[in-house]
Amino acid sequence: MESNVRVRFAPSPTGPLHIGGVRTALYNYLFAKKHNGTFILRIEDTDQTRYVKNAEQYIIDALKWCNIPFDEGPNTNEKFGPYRQSERKEIYKEYADQLIDIGWAYYAFDTSEDLDIHRKGHEKEGKTFIYNWHNREKGRLINSLVLSADEVQNRINTGENYVIRFKTPQDEILEMDDEIRGKITIDTNTLDDKILFKGDGMPTYHLANIVDDHFMEISHVIRGEEWLPSMPLHVLLYRAFGWNTPKFAHLPLILKPVGKGKLSKRDGDKLGFPVFPLAYTNEETNGISRGYKEDGYFADAFINMLAFLGWNPGTEQELFSLEALIQAFDLKRVSKSGAKFSPEKASWFQQQYMQTKEDALLTDLYIPILTKKGIDKDKEYVQKVVSEIKERAIFVADFWDLSSFFFVNPQEYDAKASKKNWKEGTSELMQELITVLSNIGDFSSENTEKEVKEWISVKEIGFGKVMQPLRLSLVGKLAGPHLFYIIAMIGKEDTLYRIENAIEKLSS
Ligand code: GLU
Repeated sequence: MESNVRVRFAPSPTGPLHIGGVRTALYNYLFAKKHNGTFILRIEDTDQTRYVKNAEQYIIDALKWCNIPFDEGPNTNEKFGPYRQSERKEIYKEYADQLIDIGWAYYAFDTSEDLDIHRKGHEKEGKTFIYNWHNREKGRLINSLVLSADEVQNRINTGENYVIRFKTPQDEILEMDDEIRGKITIDTNTLDDKILFKGDGMPTYHLANIVDDHFMEISHVIRGEEWLPSMPLHVLLYRAFGWNTPKFAHLPLILKPVGKGKLSKRDGDKLGFPVFPLAYTNEETNGISRGYKEDGYFADAFINMLAFLGWNPGTEQELFSLEALIQAFDLKRVSKSGAKFSPEKASWFQQQYMQTKEDALLTDLYIPILTKKGIDKDKEYVQKVVSEIKERAIFVADFWDLSSFFFVNPQEYDAKASKKNWKEGTSELMQELITVLSNIGDFSSENTEKEVKEWISVKEIGFGKVMQPLRLSLVGKLAGPHLFYIIAMIGKEDTLYRIENAIEKLSS
């Protein structure tokens, strides 16, 4: 049965979703599913100056790829819709007005130039300018707390630019609870009377966020640490409206792998690993940023890695399917301190997941790569190859380097290995080996191994003398799986052809 746990992921569509944003979405999703609740996507697009056209679609595509779909959101079960703030404009004005009516907000007409002058004046004296009870009614700031009602109306009617500010209470030690950080207290005298509504008819993030969380019946606000400073205002707003306050949980920052500070959107390109779930083309610069998906990560490996950036299950276990994450997830085990991102750990997770994937699925992923190279082998053959090489692969894209010799003759021979292993007499020995192999009827791995080893024993020479040049002939380098397995896979004709080729190319 559905519970009354309702959480939302509320990104602003200002660009691609950074992995920090995906982690916020993931924790919200895990929390919702763990409690049989509802996971909501709300697009917070009130700041039109930062709006990026394809960002919303990117966010939706990213959640889909990550396999963490939302239950309610734009065009999906719009129970308390619309879920795009730009489509809810009318609602916010009403609540800004309501706050003015009940004395919790006021109109302010100060221009940004005026405010700059105040700020600079304070700075000169070594103080910080805070727009609140210290100065809002002292006469130097222009607002409806000092102007007459007629004057205020007049200014609005003549189109003067205004904002609506929250009237922060004076001299109060505000006590708040955070599910991760515990009790937090703040002196309200240090808070700014934040802008709730702008003259252009748009609410600011603060007002829209609270109104929406209330009407969408959000029970828990789970979001990044960067929003912690907004929590006092949000708590005060709920109180001003007389609404129930949801529970808050502020997630730790994701930090750079080395050095200090938050992992930024630019770090990926700078440090050489993706910071976005999906590749992203910047329409203005045409620059492409890498994505985990396009880099070849499996979505479940990516999600498992992300889950551990700030949370741990309290046991040694590291590999968790999405279902297992849902069961194990607990806000109480989310840490307060920042989580260092590690590209090495990301690829470790990917490698672990590679081993758990079904050969048939990996085969389906490999076949298109082979087709592009003009190789048309039956699925059964490709699957055998995949099962042989996958333990050495991290990405599907590694398959070709690990297995090209199962499909094509070596294009070149490793120079160093050739010099060391193709010596005087090797060509003659290989020629003899061709005769031996030609006479073998049963070309299974076991049988060729037996016959070739017998021949080597009879000749009383070291195994390496034959095996190394043979490996070079078949693979082109001294790498790859069991040699007789390769022989059985490529078959007699190709085996003989490759040895002849090597003799021709490597005899000096
Ligand atoms: N729109 C905010 C963001 O972009 C949402 C903050 C919140 O979840 O309250 O992160």
